[in-house]
Amino acid sequence: MLEAQDLSKAQHWTSPDDEFSNRASSLTPSSVDFLQGIGAWKYVDQSRVQPYDEMQVWDGANESRMQFDWAAEAERYNAPRRSLATMTENANLTRGLLARISELSGDGEGSLFSRTTVAAIENGEDDQDGLNLSSWPVLSLSSADTTKSVPSRIAARLLIGADGINSPVRNFAGIASKGWDYNRHGVVATLKLEPKEDQSFDSFSDSSPEESASATAYQRFLPRLGGPIALLPLPNNHASLVWSTTSNNAAYLKSLSQTDPESVIALINAAFRLSQTDLEYMFTLPSTPSSTFSSSLSSSSAPQHPNSYTHAAELAWRLPHTPQTPHAPPSITGLQPGTLASFPLRFRQSSSYISPRVALLGDAAHTIHPLAGQGLNLGLADAKALVETIAYGVAHGMDLGDVMMLERYNAARWAEGVKVGGVVDLLNKVYGMDGTVAGWVRGLGMRVLGMDEGVGGYLGRGVRGWVMRQAEG
Ligand SMILES: Cc1cc2nc3c(=O)[nH]c(=O)nc-3n(C[C@H](O)[C@H](O)[C@H](O)COP(=O)(O)OP(=O)(O)OC[C@H]3O[C@@H](n4cnc5c(N)ncnc54)[C@H](O)[C@@H]3O)c2cc1C
Repeated sequence: MLEAQDLSKAQHWTSPDDEFSNRASSLTPSSVDFLQGIGAWKYVDQSRVQPYDEMQVWDGANESRMQFDWAAEAERYNAPRRSLATMTENANLTRGLLARISELSGDGEGSLFSRTTVAAIENGEDDQDGLNLSSWPVLSLSSADTTKSVPSRIAARLLIGADGINSPVRNFAGIASKGWDYNRHGVVATLKLEPKEDQSFDSFSDSSPEESASATAYQRFLPRLGGPIALLPLPNNHASLVWSTTSNNAAYLKSLSQTDPESVIALINAAFRLSQTDLEYMFTLPSTPSSTFSSSLSSSSAPQHPNSYTHAAELAWRLPHTPQTPHAPPSITGLQPGTLASFPLRFRQSSSYISPRVALLGDAAHTIHPLAGQGLNLGLADAKALVETIAYGVAHGMDLGDVMMLERYNAARWAEGVKVGGVVDLLNKVYGMDGTVAGWVRGLGMRVLGMDEGVGGYLGRGVRGWVMRQAEG
């Protein structure tokens, strides 16, 4: 295993109990099952993961709403209660995976090369006195790892490219990757939330992961702001923010976070409560480091129009004039310093996940919009399928890396990657459209999906069940 980054940092990652990394992922139950099955989940610090079984989704353009309540659906069909998903910091997961690799290798991670970059890949040569490597990839390595002797070249019977969106392995294999940039950024941050009075339902929970199945995730679509804002629960009244928005808005939030974090908190609270017009206006306000208003919603009892146009004051003034959804998240009270960052959002799909002696997985094979939190889940499902393919090849004495053997992996994963990426892209397009007709059609769709009674209820329950089964993997 070759990795350009310093894996010892990942192996020794620690964080105070009340701080969380801004890079966190929502794992489906089947991803967690897979991680349990390979023996890695036990090394993931469970006090830092947060399962949730409910999701509130609504549209800022027309306030139509859809709710996924796994506990209620399970009760309706007398099925075992499971989490809808589990939030995990990526660093916690990576540390757990490395601990499991270390346990399995038993030789001090002899085949794990950290701080080692694949500088070039080319086909090997046919050595008349030795092996014919002309169809084997040969990797030239450049290493800064001083803890062990790293070879300068490695020949691979099977080269697995899990090397991200710009995959050098994919380029070497000549596999086409098509797609587009969304011209949007995913703004992430770690937030602190006000505890709700009733922690037993519809709130972020501060109980242990085993008993905290009542935590809720929230997502509001804001087409005029560039995309959805999502709040995903982390333990002890923390949450992970993923706000897909325009590059200008992302730059505005980032610059504001350095000088005026209270205003960022006010903007995020506003994004779950105010109209899109109000929000657009708030994105034009200057930074106000001397804000005298608290950005917490608990201080929103002063409905006079502010003399100083701070973000928090605007929120406090506009809130009483805006109809409120009962399903908004608890008030955000804190922004963990240094956690607000943004990532460009892109869509890519490879024309194949295999070529002779090469298999692609994860973002190297497919990169998708994060609105449904499926990118890493797809990558883990790829890994599972590739392991099964290799095990099948070994059991049947096949040449590992031969394209006939790898075809099994491609058949299991390529169409699935195209389907999930396509559905997520379609959702992004539908929920990115502004305008009366688009909003009306979306609203109708969401109302039907949210129904429990009559023909709409039949359809709604069916579609909700389908979506939840997809989430389960
Ligand atoms: C804002 C945001 C939120 C998201 N939320 C979720 C979520 O909730 N759930 C979910 O499932 N997914 C989520 N995703 C998607 C998820 O983060 C990605 O799908 C996942 O991280 C991809 O992992 P990967 O290992 O395939 O690629 P990467 O994370 O890009 O890793 C590639 C690795 O290859 C290494 N590498 C590259 N080139 C070389 C080289 N030449 N030599 C050596 N090493 C090399 C890099 O150092 C890197 O470590 C989110 C994405 C974003 C942007």
